[in-house]
Amino acid sequence: PRSDVHYFGAGPAPLPTNVLEEASNVLLNYNDRGVGICEISHRSADATAILDNAKAALVTLYNIPTDEYEILFLQGGGSGEFSAVVYHLVSYWVAKRQAIATEELRLAVADGKADTGVDVNKMVIERLKREVHDELKLDYLVTGSWSLKASQEAARLVGAEHVNIAVDSRVANDGKFGKIPSEETWNVVKRKREGGPGSAMVYLCDNETVDGVEFPGFPKSLESYPEDAVDDDAPLVVADMSSNFISRPIDVRKYAVIFGGAQKNVGNAGITIVIVRKSLLPPVAKMASPELLRELGLPVGPIVLDWPTIAKNNSLYNTLPIFDVWVAGRVMAGLVQSHGSKGIAGQGEIATQKAALVYGALDKYPAVYRVVPDQSVRSRMNICFRVGGESAEKEKEFLQGAEQRGLTGLKGHRSVGGIRASNYNAVSMEAVQKLVQYLQDYAQAS
Ligand code: PMP
Repeated sequence: PRSDVHYFGAGPAPLPTNVLEEASNVLLNYNDRGVGICEISHRSADATAILDNAKAALVTLYNIPTDEYEILFLQGGGSGEFSAVVYHLVSYWVAKRQAIATEELRLAVADGKADTGVDVNKMVIERLKREVHDELKLDYLVTGSWSLKASQEAARLVGAEHVNIAVDSRVANDGKFGKIPSEETWNVVKRKREGGPGSAMVYLCDNETVDGVEFPGFPKSLESYPEDAVDDDAPLVVADMSSNFISRPIDVRKYAVIFGGAQKNVGNAGITIVIVRKSLLPPVAKMASPELLRELGLPVGPIVLDWPTIAKNNSLYNTLPIFDVWVAGRVMAGLVQSHGSKGIAGQGEIATQKAALVYGALDKYPAVYRVVPDQSVRSRMNICFRVGGESAEKEKEFLQGAEQRGLTGLKGHRSVGGIRASNYNAVSMEAVQKLVQYLQDYAQAS
């Protein structure tokens, strides 16, 4: 039975038992309608309330300024957003450049510096073609397998020539992920103030699920300065928080976009949550038209990933899996309830405590265990380590011993091997204590 098992899977991951129990009821009969939650219309008042409740809980947990940020629910997983961020930020970049070029050329005509007979639109397109060729860059901080995948998707969509790998943390680490090189070594496209064109976005993965590498905080060099508001020179930071979503306080205002698949800390697989600055969406922002993008050789994204369309339709452009939103909403409301005014800070403290217990046990027996990532970037969520000097036999034996104690889901990602204990919000202190006991017993018996 469920009560005998402590599950440390990396995603899908454990969910609070009380939410699952409630879920089994609402699947049969939602709100006493005699109809299950998967059967109700996504356009019903019940569904709208479910959406509103989930958003409200997230707003409370992250202290989101709702006049500045929009919350979207989409399908397509975290991977879908790898593509959506590219489509969106490229379109935003093009529309901005188009507005600047149009204005400058009109002024030139009015000033008599350009022939009044010129076709401004045609000149704008010629200029945009040059600018796309010379200046369209997307910065990626590659610190693990998921940011690498995201950068590869960007290269597939717009061409590798537009993707700037500002850092690849494998380079200074024997070809393996596990460190985040210091910010001075990052080669982010220079901002305008520094004489560069600026980049269309700076992408990072806040927590690398496979490699156990987490950013300790928001990178200093990507902070905006007060004067950025005037010359619009701040980097647009896009963060994948799929595997550390709602696990610590963040300053949402530092990010242009935050996204995360639900299936680790928030709910079941099926929805992705996007928090996007309203100034990057219509009606505040203009987006490039599909015709212009095509003319410039840039991709036009599918409508189901189009944030302006999703935003305009309150995430109900097409059929949203409302059950998935309900689960996420219940999980988040549970956090709000247990931590009261401390909100997500309370959960952050627990996550840190639990992670410290596991890392403490691992560090105590260096002859038996080796934590994979560098001390400075150890993930609180995915604790990756090796056993017995990476011996396949020892690791198999370790996993078998764990299973016998009901400790499951500990196998590392197939691409890197080893052991991975995922310490998401729903992993209880009791589960962590059982794991720590096993780590000690195994080490002492080795
Ligand atoms: N980003 C991160 C950090 C992830 O851990 C994962 C999946 N484990 C993804 C993106 C991809 O998510 P999905 O499988 O939902 O496409």
